[in-house]
Amino acid sequence: MSFLPAGLPLPQPTVDDAPFWEAARRHELVVQRCTECGTFRHSPMPCCYNCQSFDHEWVKIKGNGIIFSYINVVHPVHPALKDRVPFNVVLVELPEAGNVRMVGNVLDTPFEELYVGMPVEVTFEDIDAETTLPQWKRAS
Ligand code: ZN
Repeated sequence: MSFLPAGLPLPQPTVDDAPFWEAARRHELVVQRCTECGTFRHSPMPCCYNCQSFDHEWVKIKGNGIIFSYINVVHPVHPALKDRVPFNVVLVELPEAGNVRMVGNVLDTPFEELYVGMPVEVTFEDIDAETTLPQWKRAS
């Protein structure tokens, strides 16, 4: 069973983030990095915020991070979530990629056990034939 209920809008890849979603489909986590100055960035975007270069590469990372922040969602902000609340939403910081942060859910841990600084690792949730979401689980 998916952590996310059916009926939620799914990501619609753009020219900027399609490689991120294609890697997720292969169960790989990639982060965009400027080839001019080496700055990692997420969410993917066409131009480096540090040096304004349009040149970039995609770097595969292991997906080991720490919880930077988290919340317990109790209000269903979409009708598909009305029977799913409460659930956690986390902001995971990735030291192996310049401390970029990614949003997701910790799939295997009760909210009461989450804490800032908690080590987590990426896991992949196949939603349908085209969509896989990078998600998080307690680091082993
Ligand atoms: Zn740059």
